[in-house]
Amino acid sequence: MKTIYNFSAGPGTLPKEALDAASQAVLDYKNNGISILEMSHRSQPVVELMKNTTDLARELLSVPDNFHILWLQGGASTQFSMIPMNLLSNDQTADYTDTGLWAAKAINEAKIFGNINISSSTKKNIYNHIYKDLEQTPNAIYLHITSNNTIYGTQWKSFPNTLNPEGYIVADMSSDIFSRKIDFNSFGLIYAGAQKNMGPAGVTMVIIRDDILGKVNRQIPTMLNYNTHINKKSAFNTPPVSTIFVVNKTLSWLKELGGLVAIEDRNKIKAEKLYREIERNSIFTCPVNNEDRSQMNVPFTFMENGNENKFLQFCADRGLMTLKGHRSVGGFRASIYNAMPLEGVDALVTAMQDYESMDSK
Ligand SMILES: *Cc1c(COP(=O)(O)O)cnc(C)c1O
Repeated sequence: MKTIYNFSAGPGTLPKEALDAASQAVLDYKNNGISILEMSHRSQPVVELMKNTTDLARELLSVPDNFHILWLQGGASTQFSMIPMNLLSNDQTADYTDTGLWAAKAINEAKIFGNINISSSTKKNIYNHIYKDLEQTPNAIYLHITSNNTIYGTQWKSFPNTLNPEGYIVADMSSDIFSRKIDFNSFGLIYAGAQKNMGPAGVTMVIIRDDILGKVNRQIPTMLNYNTHINKKSAFNTPPVSTIFVVNKTLSWLKELGGLVAIEDRNKIKAEKLYREIERNSIFTCPVNNEDRSQMNVPFTFMENGNENKFLQFCADRGLMTLKGHRSVGGFRASIYNAMPLEGVDALVTAMQDYESMDSK
């Protein structure tokens, strides 16, 4: 059987170990004779699974004790409104960086709940870099950033400081969570949809500092109130147990591999290889400023007009799948999340070289 490498931006590729465990658990979870899909979230094995997954996430990311870890539904997109609803009163201001489509969506939602100041925007440059000289509000409650811009392939390599000493950073880490170490000092809240770098779609991890809650002067619907989910350990209503199971297996795989120290190294090597080939290759180019290039999503285009479908088919014939770029950037995008092995990147580099020599004949 030919090896297939899935370069999809999301849902992203998962480790084989997690998929094998999932297929077994769908038939029979831990020899109970019952499928994971049928198990009650109140049953002992599932209560243990939830706790174990939270513990694993806390251990891998070194999350300090004053942060809660929640598993919520509604995707990262629900967090765009849940965050300001819980943290920002109508008469208060939050700063937002406009670094891509997801960042812009977060801004639009936040405007419903308070004053939103755009600290920087690279929209007019089609988000090809991150503008780091921020205009911050002195008393802003928080500063919102998108740590990795999935569509445009930019990534914050280090995080800004808040101008307000009492302020904190809120970060959408949907597409680079668990790809590198995080220093929690400046963060108040970190959120990430699972389906890019830690599991299948259906659950969103929210890591939230204890002291920032309970300060807004509005009523919050029960399901959208972080305190509900803190008090009920993410099981106020029926959680997506099978999704959390696959997250658990993906994190177990990561721990086995050596955790964030090991994966950070591996991600760096993968990204360097691919960017080096794009630079070297005479027919491809990368639209993103050098210093902001993402280690997770690598967009590239033809230097001159070319037949994009022909290259996509050339790759697909070799088992290199889902390389089409996002419609707002065009060209190609290789998402090389944690679970993409080095061999997958090597195979893509070889395909780019072979296409170049074929093209020049
Ligand atoms: C995919 C993505 C989202 C949207 O996630 P959903 O879970 O589909 O709501 C938000 N932010 C970033 C950075 C993403 O990559």
